[in-house]
Amino acid sequence: MKKLSIIIPVHNESEGIKDFLDKKLLPVVSDIKDYKTEIILVDDGSTDDSLKILQSFAEKDPMFKVVALSRNFGKEPALSAGLKIAEGDAAITIDADGQQPPELIPKFIKKWEDGAEIVTGVRDHYTKHGFIQKLGSKLFYFLLRKMGNKHTVPGSTDFRLIDRVVIDEFNNLSEHNRITRGLIDWLGFNQQYIEYTYGVRMAGKPSYSLKKLFRLAMDSFISMSTTPLVILGYLGGIITFLSVCLGLFCIINQYILGDPLHLYWNGAVQMSIFITFLVGIVLISQATIALYISHIHAETQGRPLYIIDRKKSKNLK
Ligand code: UDP
Ligand code: MG
Repeated sequence: MKKLSIIIPVHNESEGIKDFLDKKLLPVVSDIKDYKTEIILVDDGSTDDSLKILQSFAEKDPMFKVVALSRNFGKEPALSAGLKIAEGDAAITIDADGQQPPELIPKFIKKWEDGAEIVTGVRDHYTKHGFIQKLGSKLFYFLLRKMGNKHTVPGSTDFRLIDRVVIDEFNNLSEHNRITRGLIDWLGFNQQYIEYTYGVRMAGKPSYSLKKLFRLAMDSFISMSTTPLVILGYLGGIITFLSVCLGLFCIINQYILGDPLHLYWNGAVQMSIFITFLVGIVLISQATIALYISHIHAETQGRPLYIIDRKKSKNLK
């Protein structure tokens, strides 16, 4: 019988994880008759009772496997850990918070049976809360496409089914700063999409704050491990922005409004605004170059992407 792996990254989800597994996921899984299913629960360094809850599931039912990472590595490494361990002919990744409806899993499987090697869930609209999140999300996909990831469909999420061949290829990738969806898009293969409505969290708080999301976005473009360099870049950005504003302000005052403020607008002023602008650009470029170098540095270190705590994990080979 063919095998199916369901991979769930879990970070501080003690409030809702039990209900999610019992009430939402298990009813769907018990309806899957054609495949032997394993459910891989990756505890990503939770500091609440999540791990205990996951372990209790594994103790009751060998269908559950618990992978306990030794600390919080982030969702991307957690997914990678799950994919390495998965034995299925296909793997489905789904969040632990109920925002991605497990009821759709049979649909994913159907598409896979019909020949798709990757089935990706796409949010039917931008459900990120708040203006900045929405704007950020749009900007993220815009930049991602501009930077060569032409295949990424906006709104595609990590609710996804991937075939064994894709899993094997994915497991062979060695880079550390990874955005799973970007890499999988990059791998190619026959990819199809399923639209769904991104639900609300069942319980608990999202671990991804605006700051974390921003970091995630930065990570998918270049590595960033050295905060001072980033600050340098920000500083450059601020200087550039301010000098552009100042320049525009002076130009509008001078040439459009006819200098109602009686400002000095001579060659020296123009030159100094322009030089400040250039300093900003230089700072930004330097920070960018430095970030690339720190990325190379991190890759050459060749550290493992995650470390599994074998004592805490359950039912692993
Ligand atoms: N998650 C994780 N490690 C982290 C942060 C989150 O494994 O450091 C898990 C989390 O438990 C959930 C999924 O990744 O199952 C998505 O996280 P969240 O709901 O916070 O993000 P969002 O819904 O905003 O994508
Ligand atoms: Mg969520």
